Amino acid sequence: MKDKQLLMIPGPTPVPQSVLLAGAAPMINHRGPEFAEALEEVTEALKRVFQTRHDVFILTGSGTGGLEAAVVNALSPGDAVLSVSIGVFGDRFAAIAKAFGVKVEPLDFEWGTAADPEKIRARLAADNKKEIKAVMVTHNETSTGVTNDLAEIGPIVREHGALLLVDGISSLVAMDCQTDAWCLDLVVAGSQKAFMIPPGLVFIAINDRAWSAMEKASIPRFYWDLGQAKDYLARGQTPWTPAVPQVFQLRAALRILEAEGLQACFARHARQAGAVRAGVKALGLKMFAESSHASNAVTSIRKPDGVAVAALRKLLLDKYGVVLAGGQQTLKDEIFRIGHLGHVSESDIVATLGALGMALKELGGSVNPAAGVAATVEHLGGP
Ligand SMILES: *Cc1c(COP(=O)(O)O)cnc(C)c1O
Repeated sequence: MKDKQLLMIPGPTPVPQSVLLAGAAPMINHRGPEFAEALEEVTEALKRVFQTRHDVFILTGSGTGGLEAAVVNALSPGDAVLSVSIGVFGDRFAAIAKAFGVKVEPLDFEWGTAADPEKIRARLAADNKKEIKAVMVTHNETSTGVTNDLAEIGPIVREHGALLLVDGISSLVAMDCQTDAWCLDLVVAGSQKAFMIPPGLVFIAINDRAWSAMEKASIPRFYWDLGQAKDYLARGQTPWTPAVPQVFQLRAALRILEAEGLQACFARHARQAGAVRAGVKALGLKMFAESSHASNAVTSIRKPDGVAVAALRKLLLDKYGVVLAGGQQTLKDEIFRIGHLGHVSESDIVATLGALGMALKELGGSVNPAAGVAATVEHLGGP
């Protein structure tokens, strides 16, 4: 059934029908009063999502563009930064900084594990000349399904005085991210992850410390210049033509989110992630992420014995219409990933685990498909 798919990847994610339709509205003047009203509404709502009283900007681009915006606004060529990486996206953030001549010192942790805050503390404590200008970290590492402990890392970085730049692209909305309370100076999030809208927008929260860094930052910038974004926002505009349909969709999605409530939304993600993990374990599969830091947005699962990841994903797609993600880079054939962020329902989770069990059995795995569903259902019905 080609026209009926259950999209269970960590972005793009399913879009609610009302949000899809909001994107079909006629175009308006992006320098007119209706757009200004929409921009003001979504900007204020985004501040609640980021849990910040500082600035939030909406930029047109993919998540990676937002990471580039973070680098070019906050840093100068030759600046020393500590890049905390636990996977593909942490490495990408570092690669962007390197591309602009920033001196990147990697602090890498084994894929599947979270960053150890004590190692960050020790490295920063050794920097008694305060040469490290910024620390870059991924909140939720989508490639491995691991969530870093930002509540702990934030205050450690603040104590040293370096700027903390956060890739929160797949974490915002799916899990708690307290920008101000956790001392996060700049946070990037993307529209196609838990925000329930199509790709095309990126959101960036920036506080006063990041603004002061910006005044001195000397990497050339134009499209991503947040100073321009601030000037224009004061007039209810963006510097360049924004993705107008996605702004309408963002407004619709944020209204849905406000009706659900941010805390209820986090609790739903946690419950559904727990149900996925329970079902996967009951199928006899092994988790890739360390359980203490397993993500509530995406679950990474080791290649089942005797079953190729590509074959499993192909059967799930062709026969069951369930779309799962493979691994990235060195993890390509080693893991597969189930995205459960954004507009995902409990029945989507049950269906996914059911299809996964059936597909595994069909490919010769020694599994009891009903056990996966039973464990998932039990978890969802639990406290
Ligand atoms: C998806 C993702 C990105 C990249 O976003 P694009 O929109 O593909 O550019 C970066 N970091 C994380 C953590 C992501 O999940």
